[in-house]
Amino acid sequence: MPFNNNYKKAITFSFDDGNIDDVRLIEILNKYNLKATFNLNSSMLADSFVWKYNDIKDVHHINYSEFPDLYNGHEVAAHTVRHPHLESLSYIAKKNEIQLDQIYLKALYGYDICGMALPFGSYDDEVVKVLKELNILYCRTTKPTYKFDVPDCLPLLHPTCHFRYKDLDKLTDEFLNAQNDEDMLFYIWGHSYELVTEENWAEFEVFCSKISNRDDIYYCTNKEAILNHTN
Ligand SMILES: [Zn+2]
Repeated sequence: MPFNNNYKKAITFSFDDGNIDDVRLIEILNKYNLKATFNLNSSMLADSFVWKYNDIKDVHHINYSEFPDLYNGHEVAAHTVRHPHLESLSYIAKKNEIQLDQIYLKALYGYDICGMALPFGSYDDEVVKVLKELNILYCRTTKPTYKFDVPDCLPLLHPTCHFRYKDLDKLTDEFLNAQNDEDMLFYIWGHSYELVTEENWAEFEVFCSKISNRDDIYYCTNKEAILNHTN
């Protein structure tokens, strides 16, 4: 069965870290009716959080009180509280990082957090165990498949590619032109802070324009891509 009972192709985006450039990125996504999932570290969303973020220091993060409605219409998902290398932590610390992020994000955004992206893309078997215990439905890695297969190793989910992949254009044509029997998911990930120059932004907008407004594609958040698809 196809996506949302109707489509044999779906496109979803995944952006990490809740950077201030998400504001401009979301303007572009909304302009082209595209949907994304934003993976957030709750210790950086509010100044009052008791734990301190400790890894990515050069990122200007979104402050929830300034932008409470920014992610409306998209999905918010977990990215751990502090962005650690999860595989380096004890079992209980792994669980705290993920579960407290789920709890805090739910308190802010008002819905159950069932998705996640791995900080640095790194994990071990114990992380996968914790994901299952916490009912994380899908957890994005950073390992590109360069393919459009519907994920078959959940909760781990490997993306098609990063949005700055050098052959993105070619891959996009392959997806758009496919006359497919099997359902196809084009899953693109990145960080808004990787859009540095005006040329970067223009290229990204050209990409969004190219994939948008097609009646054979389901444009969805990560959660919708997983939940609204049946085999
Ligand atoms: Zn990250």
